[in-house]
Amino acid sequence: MLPSRPPRTRGRRALALWCAALSLLVAAPAGAVSLFHSAPKHPERANPQLVIGENERLLVIAPHPDDETIGAAGLIQRVLEQNGTVRVVLMTAGDGYVEAVTRETHQPKPRPADYIAFGERRMKESRAAMRLLDHGRIHMQLLGFPDGGLDGLLRAHWLQPERSKTTDASDPPYDSEVIDPNVPYDGADLRRELGTIIAETRPTIVVLPDPLDQHPDHHATGVFGLLAIGDWLNGTTSAEPKQASNPVMPRILAYLVHWPDWPPDAESKTFSKQDEHRTLALPHDLPHRAPGHVALRLTDHELEKKHAAMALYASQQAVMPDMLAAFVRRTEPFSQLGPGAVHAAHQLIPLPTPTASPRP
Ligand SMILES: [Zn+2]
Repeated sequence: MLPSRPPRTRGRRALALWCAALSLLVAAPAGAVSLFHSAPKHPERANPQLVIGENERLLVIAPHPDDETIGAAGLIQRVLEQNGTVRVVLMTAGDGYVEAVTRETHQPKPRPADYIAFGERRMKESRAAMRLLDHGRIHMQLLGFPDGGLDGLLRAHWLQPERSKTTDASDPPYDSEVIDPNVPYDGADLRRELGTIIAETRPTIVVLPDPLDQHPDHHATGVFGLLAIGDWLNGTTSAEPKQASNPVMPRILAYLVHWPDWPPDAESKTFSKQDEHRTLALPHDLPHRAPGHVALRLTDHELEKKHAAMALYASQQAVMPDMLAAFVRRTEPFSQLGPGAVHAAHQLIPLPTPTASPRP
């Protein structure tokens, strides 16, 4: 998450256009490329329990440090409990949160070093939260792409690197933290890195932000995730052939963070521990896509640990405690996305190249 209210920028308007274009496809004729299938009359009834099997390989993709816990802290615990493995990938270090850094530094114009220090701190918070969830068994990695700039990579910086508006970097400024500190900030390279990770992980479940999330970074991360899954399924990642061979379509679970007037109680200012026992359902006006919504019902222990993990994001608790608390609920809801969503991500984006570009 970051910030709690999506910025009203040119990227925001572009996102609105993108979503409008996708929405037109809700009513597309059968056979048309679409992220959506026909909406059931009573979507609230189509909300079965998410069932996790033994030995799952879960990959969680998060735009900012804290989204992994907001979206899937319960699911992460459940997969590990069922003898599975968990890998978490953070697209950014969350170093573009102007409001928070301005507030912390008491400077109207913080320096790039201030934003980088903030990103390093947020990474520490995420690592601490993951350790709390399962004592170091979670494999977490940072790609270090520009916070607030992921949507720009899709639209304007597919091959030409983008420069972060806050850190002033055009490649990750976290040399010891990231997979590749020299990777340029462009869309093709982000897609390539993500595809390699997916091929290495061979996930049975991928958790990613809903491509319809109204925050540009979340939207873009969802699209990049679908593109990378497609690359793996098509055998076009740069992973070792052994890792990329015989891919099987994973379950894709999309989590939602930014949506108008959602989640309930996000601005209630009257947090009660009892509220955590209420369920959280996806908003009724979120387009319903096949195979439909599912929800994981957390045990008391999982819920308690999610609460404790969320408390470790001190930098975020300082600016949006009610928003964070609103996601600590008895259920974690997801939209399941099928092969059609993967196909649509490849078909709908006017990319200059059909697959990830090779690195020099
Ligand atoms: Zn976020």
